[in-house]
Amino acid sequence: MTDGVFSYSAVLMGSPILLKLFDDNPTLARQVFQLIKQQENLFTVNRAESEVMSINQAAGRNPVVVSEPVFALISVAHAVSLLPDSAFNFTIGPVVKRWKIGFQGRAVPPANEIAALLKLTDPHQVVLNSADCSVFLLQSGMEIDLGAIAKGYIADRVQAFLHQQGVQQALINLGGNVQTLGSPPHEPQGWGIGLKKPFGRDDELLGVLQVQGKSVVTSGIYERYFERDGRCWHHIFDPQNGYPLDNELLSVTVISDRSIDGDIYTTLLYGMGVEQGLAYLADQPDIDAVFVTRDRQIICSSPRHFQFQQRDFAWQLRY
Ligand code: ADP
Ligand code: MG
Ligand code: MG
Repeated sequence: MTDGVFSYSAVLMGSPILLKLFDDNPTLARQVFQLIKQQENLFTVNRAESEVMSINQAAGRNPVVVSEPVFALISVAHAVSLLPDSAFNFTIGPVVKRWKIGFQGRAVPPANEIAALLKLTDPHQVVLNSADCSVFLLQSGMEIDLGAIAKGYIADRVQAFLHQQGVQQALINLGGNVQTLGSPPHEPQGWGIGLKKPFGRDDELLGVLQVQGKSVVTSGIYERYFERDGRCWHHIFDPQNGYPLDNELLSVTVISDRSIDGDIYTTLLYGMGVEQGLAYLADQPDIDAVFVTRDRQIICSSPRHFQFQQRDFAWQLRY
């Protein structure tokens, strides 16, 4: 590892959080963890109280006025959910809650229940009013879930805070969302960020992505899942049918400037699959991706913003 690195860790948002600095600055680390906790408290749907929970609790009854940052993030999630053929749907909450993936009591729900819950996942039935920052879910039972975007937003907030504090070189890992400032000292090729071997041990890597001042976000079916009936039921759902997205992918990693974009694009690309995803990225000069497939391929979009060093040669690398 790099010399002179100071690592600070915490468990927040149900994930191990890691901060790397090049000064011993526990006060700054504490401020970063406080910022993350404060942001989590706005967005979580895993506790009874948060601004997002107050919107969900008023579904079918009344609009709820929220703070500007919450309104802004919901507006982004809404717009992405309304893109044509979007695999991203921030009103997927009732489906996510029913499957309980990553929580106790997980099971494959009966098909008729899934079908009924799908009716409560229409992003057109969300009314946003920018005049008073209010959000109204028109049907009772609707639930916003910002799980696919909140970590990216928070990672960007941490990056901005560190920048404001005069930090030039740092890394924050929010459990799948990595955001960086600069490059580590004496390592001009940048930060090395491991790409995990799907279903492998934590230290088993397919390779290492090298980036400078970029965000690296990975969404994989092996993060949170359970096995039943010979299938892997994971936590990224197909908004069309309410079941975990089922295609050739094991993971998608997105390299971008902003971690919120990384978070959004991992979900969108997950829905597109490799061929359509690569074609889509050809028109997105600011976004790169690495797809990992069930047939043991590692497929990189034209790598404009990262370098990939392969470690596990049992997998086939292609560009
Ligand atoms: P994580 O990094 O926590 O693993 P991801 O960024 O991969 O999360 O997003 C998965 C989370 O997003 C799920 O746990 C759920 O809360 C939510 N989610 C699941 N499917 C969708 C979807 N199709 N659109 C939007 N959000 C989703
Ligand atoms: Mg995401
Ligand atoms: Mg994520």
